Amino acid sequence: MRVSILLLVCWSLFLSCNRAQQPNSVAPSTAGSTPGDVTFLSLTGDTLSPMVVKSVDEWRAELSPEAFHVLREAGTERAFTGTYWNNHADGVYVCAGCGLPLFSSATKFESGTGWPSFWEPIKPGYVAEKTDTSYGMVRVEVLCPRCQGHLGHVFDDGPKPTGLRYCMNSVSLKFVPAGK
Ligand code: FE
Repeated sequence: MRVSILLLVCWSLFLSCNRAQQPNSVAPSTAGSTPGDVTFLSLTGDTLSPMVVKSVDEWRAELSPEAFHVLREAGTERAFTGTYWNNHADGVYVCAGCGLPLFSSATKFESGTGWPSFWEPIKPGYVAEKTDTSYGMVRVEVLCPRCQGHLGHVFDDGPKPTGLRYCMNSVSLKFVPAGK
């Protein structure tokens, strides 16, 4: 009996030590996004703060069902169905969740994928990146650093000068034409 209690105490200590050694992760958000190893490239700049944090119900009430699914549930719109994959007008693409400027039309290119594609964010740090291992693949998810909305993924097969392809969902973006 005494040995059993001793073993139980040792096992409890082992478990608690292991838990303490796990790496820190981003605190769960009340905004409905999945907590994980979100890496913010930079958080400098006035428009990045304050963070926009809303409940799942608040987001659901504000967004269309399609936008809610993509932005808050990391969904993907079907290729060639979004509003902006074939948009060639000059302007700025902002986050459909919180309005943060994300991409300039000057860095948009024709990727042939059916999703709006950019080779660079509008400013360094104006997108956040996170490892995504869903669907048996290792990809880099791109999120809005202010509201943590899912935007799409970034791949390393883009054009010069960065060689990056930010593959976005139209429904995660709002286009603001130049001069407005
Ligand atoms: Fe946002």
